[in-house]
Amino acid sequence: MSWLRLDGVTRRFGGKDALSDLSLGIGKGEFIALLGPSGCGKSTALNCLAGLLPLSGGSIWQDDKRIDTLPPERRGFGMVFQSYALFPHLSVRRNIAFGLQMRRLPRAEVRRRTDEAIRLVRLDEHATKLPGQLSGGQQQRVAIARAIVLEPSLVLMDEPLSNLDAKLRLEMRTEIRRLHQSLGLTTVYVTHDQEEALSMADRLVVLRDGRVQQIGTPEELHTRPANRHVADFMGYRNLLPMRVASVSREVVTVEGAGMALRGTAVGEMFPGDEVVAGIRPEDLRAGADGIPATVEVVEYQGRELAVEARTEQGVVLHLRAAERPSPGDKISVVADPARVLVFGGGK
Ligand code: ATP
Repeated sequence: MSWLRLDGVTRRFGGKDALSDLSLGIGKGEFIALLGPSGCGKSTALNCLAGLLPLSGGSIWQDDKRIDTLPPERRGFGMVFQSYALFPHLSVRRNIAFGLQMRRLPRAEVRRRTDEAIRLVRLDEHATKLPGQLSGGQQQRVAIARAIVLEPSLVLMDEPLSNLDAKLRLEMRTEIRRLHQSLGLTTVYVTHDQEEALSMADRLVVLRDGRVQQIGTPEELHTRPANRHVADFMGYRNLLPMRVASVSREVVTVEGAGMALRGTAVGEMFPGDEVVAGIRPEDLRAGADGIPATVEVVEYQGRELAVEARTEQGVVLHLRAAERPSPGDKISVVADPARVLVFGGGK
């Protein structure tokens, strides 16, 4: 049973849907990422949840109580923004204690809970500093502590790491995940960074033009993206326009640009249909009897080499190689048919 439920949530601006018909159940303690490119409606969804934006349609339910008509402060949710939104003239400690003081809690309780939150985000040594004296990562920890000190039933985070450099982003990912696990926080996290979403979330909601493309676990999205747009987001860098030659149950043979491939059909398709074959670079290799191509770019990526090669018909293929080929080398490229997905039109 879902603890929180969004039912057909829609938000329009000037007659255009910024978010269209979002239905999603969130379990207690779940970490949900809303993922998609700029302008897809992620922040709109979060702001609808927070109560900062009224809905144009649909409803939001918590424990079977309708909450979308409640003002933000009565929902009991915490928010963490990209911009941190700290009080610049208050110390770390006073920033974190502020919300508790506003609730007129006894002084001893304010102190105890503030200390606990400072410890949880590991800011003990910085408690008396002003935000301006802290690094971006530390400021974001203050913002997180300020949200969790109020023991919210749900934490909403809008691109909280996007102002940090790459190394800090990685550290803070682990930090947020650790907090999530140790406190059992239910979290909705907005990001356009697919790696961030995949590494942090229990489930992801992929949005495009305000519409849900797919909801699933990282593994489901990775191995079985619902369409070419999700595939694009999940690192299927080879998205090759082709035509269906034959279909037998789920196995489909496609042809185009001098290539023929076998793969798994995603959705219904028929011979002659225009489709897109999606293959991740790690599922394309140099091997015998494949597609002839010429190596153009070789670079290290993790432990393997990322290679770009161009076919005789000018199609660029992204593949992986264990041994270093040189630009100009002629290779033959082979796909693992079990890993090729063929996406139909529509959506
Ligand atoms: P970003 O990552 O750039 O913040 P996003 O996925 O969060 O993008 P939203 O901010 O939710 O996207 O915006 C979705 C769409 O709604 C966009 O086309 C945007 O221009 C539009 N929109 C958002 N807020 C408003 C507003 N207050 N008035 C008019 N249009 C808006």
